[in-house]
Amino acid sequence: MQVKENHVVQIDYTLTNNEGQVLDSSNGKQPLAYIHGHGQIIPGLEQALEGKAAGDKLDVTIPAEQAYGEHRPDLVQQVPASAFAGVEKVEPGMRFQAETDQGPIPVTVTAVTDEAVTVDANHELAGQELNFAVKIEAVRAATETELDHGHVHGADGHQQH
Ligand code: ZN
Repeated sequence: MQVKENHVVQIDYTLTNNEGQVLDSSNGKQPLAYIHGHGQIIPGLEQALEGKAAGDKLDVTIPAEQAYGEHRPDLVQQVPASAFAGVEKVEPGMRFQAETDQGPIPVTVTAVTDEAVTVDANHELAGQELNFAVKIEAVRAATETELDHGHVHGADGHQQH
């Protein structure tokens, strides 16, 4: 069965950056299960999987704009250190939920001085070309209920409700 819209696809994958560092992997975990054609995985990977079949292996390099987007400088902000008054120690790499007009968004602290904290609301993989080594484990038609709920059910899914 081929990967196409409204099908549940299970993949084993390893994600590396261009330095060869492993950023994420299904190794030792359940394969990732998603419903194809619904934007549940990054666009470049979804496109690469289209038309492939269970058992196929592929290595794809996905440019940033087809992955988590370009790094947007306007999403990097300096806030006064006083905004973190309740936090014992603010260090680069820490993550917070920032309250915004669009609701809470995750931000990462990238720099700290006595006066100001620089926070970056870009996705941590924004601006990066990503390399996926993928093996397609299984493909099946999604059920009506799965399409209705927008997620995979059963032993190969992460959610059961
Ligand atoms: Zn459900």
